[in-house]
Amino acid sequence: MNAPNLTINIPKNMRHIDSIFIHCSATPDGRDVTVEQIRKMHLKNGWNDIGYHFVIYRDGSVLPGRPISQIGAHAKGYNTGSIGICYIGGMNKENTKAADTRTPAQQESLIWLVRELIRTFGTMKIYGHNQVSAKSCPCFDVPSWVDQTHLLEPESTPEPEPDEPEPDEPETPVITQEDVNKWVDKWYRNIFKWGKNGTNDTPVDERILRELDRPIERPLEDDYEELDAPEEPGWLEEL
Ligand SMILES: [Zn+2]
Repeated sequence: MNAPNLTINIPKNMRHIDSIFIHCSATPDGRDVTVEQIRKMHLKNGWNDIGYHFVIYRDGSVLPGRPISQIGAHAKGYNTGSIGICYIGGMNKENTKAADTRTPAQQESLIWLVRELIRTFGTMKIYGHNQVSAKSCPCFDVPSWVDQTHLLEPESTPEPEPDEPEPDEPETPVITQEDVNKWVDKWYRNIFKWGKNGTNDTPVDERILRELDRPIERPLEDDYEELDAPEEPGWLEEL
């Protein structure tokens, strides 16, 4: 893509514009024509300068013509509020009839330039010269082209960058009733054992009920010795 070789800034003395007109140079397919050549021709007409504001070369280069702050000379009756763009070409090789000779690079650059103008100056109407004059210029159907290229639709906003993946949060352990039962079982048995050994005078059942605030019905069986080894004495604080 050769197009972005030009920066479009809003001049301080910018006039109001509401439209873009697209033209061709009406020169044979394959022939390069420069801004200077067109300027000379237009000066011969008695004009102040080249009539177009931008010229798109066959290689896709976009060149400035008349300053955009100045009214152009390209579409009779429509120059005041418009910008004129001319692509080089528009006639067949034999120079006998009108032809859409836009090279792929010119097509890309034309889209780029119109988008850039809309981005800079706001939405505008886009016309081919032949829509307001009995001419072939610019030798392609501009309204269909505008539709196909979605030029008047808002440019899609880029997808937001995906968020950084959240660092894995440490999982909060899910405490099931089964876990509670196991703990209670362990407490119960340990406390019972301590009580039995004379290390804790608190009556076992009341103490557990105070901790859990719910009734506990557990048979105190003599097989408690087969469970896990008794915890260290600090077990209650650790739980
Ligand atoms: Zn024209």
